[in-house]
Amino acid sequence: MRDPSELGSLRVRPRGLVPTMGYLHEGHLELIRHSAAENAETVVSIFVNPLQFGAGEDYETYPRDLARDARLAEEAGADWIFHPDPETMYPVGFATTVHVGGPLTERWEGERRPGHFDGVATVVTKLFNLVRPDRAYFGEKDFQQLQVVRRFTADLNLGVEIVPVPIVREPDGLARSSRNVYLTPEERPKATVLYRALLAVREAAAAGATPAEALRAGERVLAEVPEFVPDYLAVVDPETLEPLEASWVPGARAIVAGRFPTVRLIDNMEVWNP
Ligand code: AMP
Repeated sequence: MRDPSELGSLRVRPRGLVPTMGYLHEGHLELIRHSAAENAETVVSIFVNPLQFGAGEDYETYPRDLARDARLAEEAGADWIFHPDPETMYPVGFATTVHVGGPLTERWEGERRPGHFDGVATVVTKLFNLVRPDRAYFGEKDFQQLQVVRRFTADLNLGVEIVPVPIVREPDGLARSSRNVYLTPEERPKATVLYRALLAVREAAAAGATPAEALRAGERVLAEVPEFVPDYLAVVDPETLEPLEASWVPGARAIVAGRFPTVRLIDNMEVWNP
């Protein structure tokens, strides 16, 4: 791994950026592998971004292990780790926010986590300006975030190609997440309920159900696990994230989020593509 202080003078192109909050797992490593395969240099940023955490969320306790992250990132093909301090990213007097307006950020995660997407858009814009990547890699795990990043990257002519990477799952279907470590041994097997609900929506869609009917099949699965309190389960247009009711669009997604006593989880799946 090279010295990050050289980052500003990087000259090798094309350059890939993989923005993360660290505590790397197989999902992150898949993003890094994609970038390493497609670019001459890959920068992995590791920054637990205070701006995207709400009051009462887990900013202080978010899991961190930089030494392990650096080793895993390098093994997956990273050339650089960019690990700025919060004080460097947000010095005293910092006063600028990138805000994505409109329905894309009003629903779902945007509604449950006020200010979250402003924090994401602001930090990703700063990372783009600091690292100057040609491409940046984002997981479909955070599907609404991916669409928000696409929106402001296009709107602000940031000149970065946004590359989506499919969700990496545990063998039982649970989407990989740094927050899965919060699950208790009793909750862990039950956490597959999100994946199973998404599968039920997809199966109903394949059997000819409308989006509204398919949604009910997913809701029945969620109801089997009372420890999981859903925030939402919806079938949406993949571009606008507007709910679908009577008819399908290609690439329609089911999205789900909710809480176990110890952790909030999200997941999604493409449920219809003719
Ligand atoms: P995070 O560290 O949680 O902010 O995630 C950093 C990046 O990794 C984001 O683009 C996530 O969407 C992506 N990511 C996280 N988990 C997964 C996963 N299970 N599969 C694919 N991408 C993921």
